[in-house]
Amino acid sequence: MTAPLPSEKAFIPFVSVENMMRLVHHVGIETMLVELTDAIEADFRRWDLFDKTPRVASHSHDGVIELMPTSDGAVYSFKYVNGHPKNMAQGLQTVTAFGLLAEVSTGYPVLLTEMTLLTALRTAATSAMAARHLAPANARRLALIGNGAQAEFQALAMKAVLGIEEVRLYDIDPKATEKTVRNLGKTGLRLVPCTSAQAAIEGADIITTCTADKQFATILTDNMVGAGVHINAIGGDCPGKTELHRDILLRADTFVEYPPQTRIEGEIQQMDPDYPITELWQVVAGQAQGRSSERQITLFDSVGFAIEDFSALRYVREKLKGTDYFQKLDIIADPDDPRDLFGMLLRAG
Ligand code: NAD
Repeated sequence: MTAPLPSEKAFIPFVSVENMMRLVHHVGIETMLVELTDAIEADFRRWDLFDKTPRVASHSHDGVIELMPTSDGAVYSFKYVNGHPKNMAQGLQTVTAFGLLAEVSTGYPVLLTEMTLLTALRTAATSAMAARHLAPANARRLALIGNGAQAEFQALAMKAVLGIEEVRLYDIDPKATEKTVRNLGKTGLRLVPCTSAQAAIEGADIITTCTADKQFATILTDNMVGAGVHINAIGGDCPGKTELHRDILLRADTFVEYPPQTRIEGEIQQMDPDYPITELWQVVAGQAQGRSSERQITLFDSVGFAIEDFSALRYVREKLKGTDYFQKLDIIADPDDPRDLFGMLLRAG
């Protein structure tokens, strides 16, 4: 005799990588980046409502595994994510992730999903949201240094949200740049492969660094950075892993997600504890100034924060409605009599 199926209410929608790809194409990549940017911005405006904690990180010589939880009181989310720069050499992703959304009222999960793709999308959307407030007006040229897994997402979000027209690309591995040029070939962006970071940032309004190397790297030095640019530094996101020379930070006005986490993980780990920073949510909520002059160098010291994942998870849950881009996952035990968990087990035998 086969055991009865658990009742319908106990099934949790699960979005596999394949279904996430179907969902993204169903919505449209650029549309999704714009909508995610707006969803994250809406949650940044209600920042005070959220439980906030620096992510829980387990560091090793080769990388880090992190848990990123948050809640707005009605919905709870967490993401599991890793960062292993040496993975690429073994044919593995540097960053992989999955995440869960739950109802606070019952504690029951309501969504489990892949988040490797979703992290790339939400990171790009967060970059675009920051640039919307910090980049020079009418920014049209983006320098993209580091042309790995995140690169195309970053470029497309800047195009879709800000109207970027030209992307100047550099990677220490020319094959990475070739791949990015190939992937972005039909997007309408003007693509300029460059042979050095210096050449890539020439004339750029926005410089995005998205390299992966577990060290205090110097992707940009102070003399390379001219007045008026916006720097979007996403690769320095772990203790001992930065991308910018500290002298750049001495000239820039720096904006961060959640200071207690960024002080540990961001570019500002190189600076004294009293180094001045502005929280990005305050700019979004109109409580602090973003860009204040044409010559100002603005820096978004991005490390990735749990609220961005929360926004992305809620967004995906909404978008799943009326689609079949999920599987039903039997992950919550659901005996007919809630106290008879053991009886349910016995009957299954
Ligand atoms: P990836 O390994 O796929 O790509 C990294 C690229 O950087 C590679 O192509 C590599 O050749 C290149 N690179 C390394 N050193 C370089 C240098 N000195 N100059 C130019 N290029 C260089 O990694 P990914 O998934 O694209 O992630 C990029 C970085 O972004 C990682 O450090 C990752 O941890 C970080 N990240 C941050 C966030 C966030 O929210 N801030 C989110 C996701 C990923």
